[in-house]
Amino acid sequence: MASEKRVLVTGGAGFIGSHLCERLLAADNDVLCIDNYFTGSKDNVAHLIQNPHFELMRHDVTFPLYIETDEIYNLACPASPVHYQFDPVQTTKTSVHGAINMLGLAKRVRAKIFQASTSEVYGDPEVHPQVETYWGRVNPIGPRACYDEGKRCAETLFFDYRRQHNLLIKVARIFNTYGPRMHPNDGRVVSNFIVQALRNDPVTIYGNGEQTRSFCYVDDLVEAFIRIMATGDDFTGPVNIGNPNEFTIRELADTVIELIGSKSEIISKPLPTDDPVQRQPDITIARDMLDWEPKIQLKEGLQKTIAYFDDRLSAE
Ligand code: NAD
Ligand code: UDP
Repeated sequence: MASEKRVLVTGGAGFIGSHLCERLLAADNDVLCIDNYFTGSKDNVAHLIQNPHFELMRHDVTFPLYIETDEIYNLACPASPVHYQFDPVQTTKTSVHGAINMLGLAKRVRAKIFQASTSEVYGDPEVHPQVETYWGRVNPIGPRACYDEGKRCAETLFFDYRRQHNLLIKVARIFNTYGPRMHPNDGRVVSNFIVQALRNDPVTIYGNGEQTRSFCYVDDLVEAFIRIMATGDDFTGPVNIGNPNEFTIRELADTVIELIGSKSEIISKPLPTDDPVQRQPDITIARDMLDWEPKIQLKEGLQKTIAYFDDRLSAE
C-alpha cells in the first residue's frame, strides 16, 4: 500500500518520540527516525525496526541533514533537568543549531515543521494558569537557562522562518508529560517516584512538596501532535498541550506509594535552583482549535507507567 506521507521525527528514539513514531506508522506513514542516542535508545524503537516503513538513523541535529520529507517533528533535545544540565552548551546547541538545521531542511523541501517547545518558556510564572500570550519569567543565567532559553530561541527562529520564508510552522508548548519509556534515571519526578516506590527506597521530595505540576499522559500528548500537524496553513501556535489537573508534588508521592502498595517512606531533599513553584496549562486554544483535551487522568496513566517500570526492573 502507498504511504500517506514521508515524516521525519528528530529525537525519535526518546520517550515521546518513540510513541510518536509508533502512532505515525499506524497511520500508514513512512517514518525516518533520527537520534544521537544521548537520552534515547534503540530499545525504545526496537519493536518498529522490522516495519518496512520505518527507518532509524544515527544523526545529531546540530549538523545539517539532507533528505526528502513532507513533514518534520522536531523533538531532539534532552528534556529532564539532570540530562539537559549535564552538558549545557550542547543543550543550547541542540535547541538552536538543531532548529536552524531542521528549519533549513523544511525550507529546502517545503515541508511542514513542528517544534516540541515547552512550558519552561514561561519559567517560574507570575501568571497562573499559563496562557500562550504570557511572555514568561525566565532567569537567563541560571542552571535551567540552557534549556529554557534554548527553547525560547528555537521558537523565535520558527516564527522568523515563518515571517521571512513563509514556512508552515506548528509550535506546541508541552507541559510535564509521563508514561512508559521514560528514562528510569532521568531524575524526572514521575519516573523517580515510581522507581523509588517499586524498590521500597525512600521517595525524595525536593523542598516542601507544595510546588505543583500538571501531568499529561503520553498518548494524549501524541494525539495533540497529530491534530496540530493536521491544522490549516494559518495555524502556527504556540499552543499549550498538557493536562490542566494540577497536583502538589506531595500528592503525587502519596498517590504513587498508594498505587504500588509500597513500604517507602517520604524524605525531603533541597529544592533545586529556579525550580518553578506552580505550573498549569490553560488549554483553551487546544480545546477550541484542535478539539483536543486529555482523556487519561493521573491514576490511570500512573498505573500504565508503573506496569512498564515494574516489568523493566524485574528484567534487570
Ligand atoms: P527524551 O530525552 O526521552 O527524548 C529526546 C530525544 O532527543 C532522545 O532520544 C535524545 O537522544 C535525542 N537527542 C538529544 N539531543 C540530540 C541531538 N543533538 N541530535 C539528535 N537527537 C538528540 O525526552 P522526551 O521527554 O521524549 O522529550 C522530547 C521533546 O519534548 C524534547 O524536545 C523536550 O524538550 C520536549 N518536551 C518534553 C516534555 C516532557 O515532559 N517529557 C515537556 C516539555 C517539552
Ligand atoms: N522533584 C521531586 N523529587 C524528585 C524529582 C523531582 O520533588 O525526585 C520535583 C522537582 O523539584 C520539581 C517537580 O518535582 O518541583 C517536577 O520535576 P521534574 O524534574 O519532573 O520536572 P520540571 O521541574 O522540569 O517540571
